[in-house]
Amino acid sequence: MSHAPAAAPHASHQDEFNPFLSMAQLFDTAADHLGLDKGLRDVLRTPDREMTVAIPVVMDDGRIEVFTGYRVQHNFSRGPCKGGIRYAPDVNLDEVRALAAWMTWKCAVVDVPFGGGKGGVVCDPRKLSKGELERITRRYTAAIMDILGPDRDVPAPDVNTNEQTMAWLMDTYSMHVRKTTTAIVTGKPIALGGSRGRTEATGRGVMLIAREGLKKLGMKPQDARVVVQGSGNVGGIGAMLMHREGYKIVAMSDQYGAIQNDAGLDVPAVLAHIKKTGRILGFAGAREVEGGQKILETPCDVLVPAAVENQITTGNAQRIDTKLIVEGANGPCTAAASKILDDRGIMVVPDILANAGGVTVSYFEWVQDRMGYFWSEQRVNNSLEQVMVKSFEDVSTVAAKYKVSMRIAAYILSIDRVATVYRLRGVFA
Ligand code: NAD
Repeated sequence: MSHAPAAAPHASHQDEFNPFLSMAQLFDTAADHLGLDKGLRDVLRTPDREMTVAIPVVMDDGRIEVFTGYRVQHNFSRGPCKGGIRYAPDVNLDEVRALAAWMTWKCAVVDVPFGGGKGGVVCDPRKLSKGELERITRRYTAAIMDILGPDRDVPAPDVNTNEQTMAWLMDTYSMHVRKTTTAIVTGKPIALGGSRGRTEATGRGVMLIAREGLKKLGMKPQDARVVVQGSGNVGGIGAMLMHREGYKIVAMSDQYGAIQNDAGLDVPAVLAHIKKTGRILGFAGAREVEGGQKILETPCDVLVPAAVENQITTGNAQRIDTKLIVEGANGPCTAAASKILDDRGIMVVPDILANAGGVTVSYFEWVQDRMGYFWSEQRVNNSLEQVMVKSFEDVSTVAAKYKVSMRIAAYILSIDRVATVYRLRGVFA
């Protein structure tokens, strides 16, 4: 990304935790392998469009408050931009830029015809009423609507936004264009044109990628001990689906702590416990892991970091005791830690492949909305499986060809796909 300060050869401690710099380094490494010329590098690093908008909102107490919103479209050469909208007090343009670029590479890895986008509103949803959130969403949508559209840019939920947010966005857009336009967003409620299987899609993708990774390592699911960090949409559902396939889930965590049972956790019971009590600790069928973060060092065959970014770092990478890491979260391993893991021979399936099940089923949702014909859950799941398995094979082939890690291979594959389209289309003048 052109806005990133150049990464120092010996990244400082601070730099290690900057996902923006991590990605810029990966981009450069992959671009070097591809021998990408400077002009194309500059094109692919630079967001196509960035929009910053003021969002005046009448609050419940009658005051007017002005919020700031962003939408960044990183690259739309392969199709409409795709990417979530997050609501958080610390959202900033740099972060949204990095996440938008990430979406470009993720969509290209699984070869769905989308570019990358991301949006955000600076606000603290915990301090806002439902009515205030609705008014923020509607005004934000109206403010960025000129660059949205089923053929231009299709948002989705992200941190602190959900199905309801997407329903308001869809309604606001539809009211302006004077027709119901379900394909303007994905991650909608099923009653409004959402897709069956969308909620489970990312966890299902994680399960499928773990299966493919283990196959490569010559292991069977029934023999695999799995550790999952994070028990939400990705980690919780991923763990549940792996449990169903016969994997032994030996440890799980949430933001409050971690639990372990070497004989295997009863995952449906763990998730029911979390639903009831709001946290994982206190589950009867397991013991507590001292210092929740230590869960990452639990001996296992498959480690699924599915919580937040920067969890595997230079501080713990040497102690990670697994054969395969499937990155459910975005950016859970820092770039410096990835190098250590590579040197130690641990296979890492990177986020832009491992958690791409969500955007893949978002693509199916968009297709269904445009067809006005809705698929069965079985069809969604089968199509997802085909995409994830093929993408895993594509990345493995590139890794073998260039003799690089799966992470660098995923970047090489995606950057090459975007660059190919760019070369064929040429530079519009
Ligand atoms: P979620 O909010 O549903 O769940 C997050 C889980 O992580 C919760 O169990 C939470 O308690 C736990 N957690 C939070 N901070 C933690 C910490 N410091 N240590 C341990 N656990 C912690 O979120 P999600 O949708 O499951 O997303 C998880 C990650 O996956 C994020 O990085 C997200 O960007 C990424 N992701 C999500 C999707 C999707 O479809 N939901 C798709 C692609 C990537």
